[in-house]
Amino acid sequence: MFILLLGAPGSGKGTQGKILAERLGLPKITTGDILRTAVTTGTPLGREAKKFMDEGKLVPDAVILSLIKEELAKPEGWQGAVLDGFPRTAAQAELVDRTLGERGQRLNHILLLDVPEEELVRRMTSRAAQEGRSDDTAEAIKTRLQVYQRDTAPLIAHFAQRGIVHRVPGTGTVDAIATEIRRIIGR
Ligand code: AMP
Repeated sequence: MFILLLGAPGSGKGTQGKILAERLGLPKITTGDILRTAVTTGTPLGREAKKFMDEGKLVPDAVILSLIKEELAKPEGWQGAVLDGFPRTAAQAELVDRTLGERGQRLNHILLLDVPEEELVRRMTSRAAQEGRSDDTAEAIKTRLQVYQRDTAPLIAHFAQRGIVHRVPGTGTVDAIATEIRRIIGR
C-alpha cells in the first residue's frame, strides 16, 4: 500500500507519517530528511540543495526527480511505503504515478493534513526554537507557505479526480489525528 501525506509545511506530515509507517510496517520515504542529511554530510546533492532549502524554495525537479526514482526503486519499498514531502510538483507526481504504474501499483490513499495558516506559522516558529532548522526563519517560512500554495496545493485537485484524497483535520492532539487516520485507512 502506498500512502501519501500531503499538507503545508508544519502540518504534521512527519509526525503522522512516522506513526503510520510504524503501525503498518512500511518504510517512510521523506525527501526533506534525505536532503537535510545530504546537506549535513556535504554530498554533491547536499551542496546543490542547500541554497534552495535555506531560502524555503523547492529544490529543482532536475535534482529531485532522480532522487525520487532511486528511493522508489529500493527493494524495501516495493510492497508499499509512506511518502512524506513528495511529490510536491506536477512533474514529481507524474514520475511517482508512472513508476508505480509500471509495477502495476498506484497511490492508494492521500491524506491531506488541513491546518490553518496562523497555526502553521506558530508551529514552525516554535520548531525553529527547538530544532534550529535553517529554513524555519520568518522569511523562509513565508516563502515555503507560498511555494506550497503555488506548486503543491494544485496536486490536490489532480489526485481528487481519482477519489483517493482524504481531508484530515490537522489540529488537535497527535493521538486524535492518528486515530482519525487509522479510521480512514481502515487499519
Ligand atoms: P520538508 O522537510 O519536507 O518541509 O522539506 C524541507 C525543504 O527540502 C523544502 O523546503 C525544499 O527546499 C526541500 N524539499 C524537500 N522535499 C522536496 C521535494 N519533493 N521537492 C523539492 N524540494 C524538496
